[in-house]
Parts: sequence; C-alpha cells; structure tokens
Amino acid sequence: MATIITDECINCGACEPECPNTAIYQGGVEFDALDGSKLAALSDDFFYIVPEKCTECVGFYDAEACAAVCPVDCCVPDPNLPETEEALLARAQQIHPDKAFGDDFPSRFRAGAGEGDAGSDGAAAGAPTPAAAAPVAAAGAATVVAMNPEDALLASIPVLDDWEVPLTCFRCRGQFEVPFQFVKPGTVLHCPHCGGSFVPNTTLYQSIARRVTRFYDSWASELAKIRKRREAEMDRFEGQLRAGLDDLKEDVRGLGGDDELAGAPQRDRGFFG
Ligand code: SF4
Ligand code: SF4
Repeated sequence: MATIITDECINCGACEPECPNTAIYQGGVEFDALDGSKLAALSDDFFYIVPEKCTECVGFYDAEACAAVCPVDCCVPDPNLPETEEALLARAQQIHPDKAFGDDFPSRFRAGAGEGDAGSDGAAAGAPTPAAAAPVAAAGAATVVAMNPEDALLASIPVLDDWEVPLTCFRCRGQFEVPFQFVKPGTVLHCPHCGGSFVPNTTLYQSIARRVTRFYDSWASELAKIRKRREAEMDRFEGQLRAGLDDLKEDVRGLGGDDELAGAPQRDRGFFG
C-alpha cells in the first residue's frame, strides 16, 4: 500500500527532501507526474504524497523514509491501496530506469530482523547536529567492584538523559549513539555517517523511553533490594558484635579476680614465704 499523509500534518516539511522518488509535495503545489506533465495538487492544506510515485521506499530503504522523519507520525500506509513488493519495485524501476536494484534491494518487506532494535524498526536514527554529550558508562556494563558496592552500583547507572541510545541509520545502516535527551520528537538529528537528517517521531521516542524506563526501574528495584539486604545484614552484624562485646567484657572482668594472672596483686608471705 502506498503511503499517505493524514490531516494531522503540521506542514513542517521534513519529509519532502527524504523521499527518493520525489513523491511528496507541499499543499497547494502542483506535482510532476510520471509522464512529465504538471498536475494539480492533491491537497491544498497539507503536504501530500502522489501514490503513482510512492514505492514505500522499496528499492531504497528498509522503512518508509517519510514516516521515519515525521515528528507527528502522520505518514501512514494507505489501507485502501495494498500493493505487493513486486509491484512497488517495478514502480521504482519505472521511476529510475537507469538504476540497477539487484536482488538484495532494501525493502520494508524484508526489514524486521532487527525487532527490538529501536533504531532500525523503521523509525530511524540520527545523531544530534551538535556534538553528542560526553559518553557515560553504559548501564549494565559497568564494573561493580569498589570499596563500597552500593556506591559502585549507583555510579554504574548513568543519568537517564545522558544515557547513550544506540541507533541505526535507516539509510546507510550506520550505527552510533545519541544521548537520550536528544531522542525526542521534534529534534532534528543527523546521521554522522551519511549526514542524512531525521526527526524522531513519537513512536520511536515512546518505544525507546519504554525500554529505557523499564531498564531503569528494574535497576532501581534491584538496588533497593540490595540496600534492604545490606541493612538487614548490618543489623544482624551489629547485634552479634554487641553480644560479642558483652561476652568479651564478662570474660575480661573474670580475669581481674584471678590470682594467678600476671600482674595481680600478690599477698605478702613474709621473708620465708
Ligand atoms: S514511503 Fe518513501 S517513496 Fe513513499 S512517499 Fe514516503 S518517502 Fe516517498
Ligand atoms: S514530516 Fe509529517 S508533519 Fe512534516 S510535512 Fe511531512 S507529513 Fe507533514
């Protein structure tokens, strides 16, 4: 099915330059038909997609590029126009007669192997234009060996906003990391490998936030358990120590009355003893 733009479009224009088929046009602007003619805009109010030119990015990307950059998730499949991968590739070939697509052409129909990989699930990735914040220790990978295990645990959990989110560029498949604070809807990011731009959409953000929050919650809960265990151990230790000290005192007090103990006052037994 071709991709369509719904009336939730905020006319930000982020999608238009991303389309490999120049299938996206601004509302009210005539579009170039495949036969070279100019035709009337399909929408006067919002950006629109020309169905005859949309290949759902088959032949170019593993996911729909417009959907990947749309900050409000309004580039969606048209349920009334289902199309096969074969038909979409044929269209791509028609639009780009000089391009050889080969057997391993990118296609959303073949994507999905990276399920669970937030950066490659079609809501693609990028790095912020400014240099990324200094990397922090990746949670879960820190060495938990220190004088104070509790402090070491705390140090191994980076501040949530600083946590480096691993992302995969949907264009070049390049991998990189971006602090969580930048992976928010509306932030314009750039892939450091191919320079392509994208704006994290709500789906990508929520998907990452869900996973990261779950991870943090589980670590916080583990840490709380460890603290509780340590407190119980310390209480037990303190009780045993106090009891031991009391026993020690009793023991030592008993020694004070022992005549045989070296240093105990001796009775004077006279010159001949
Ligand atoms: S799905 Fe791909 S080909 Fe279709 S309009 Fe969006 S960017 Fe263009
Ligand atoms: S990226 Fe989304 S909101 Fe922006 S113009 Fe395209 S369809 Fe509209």
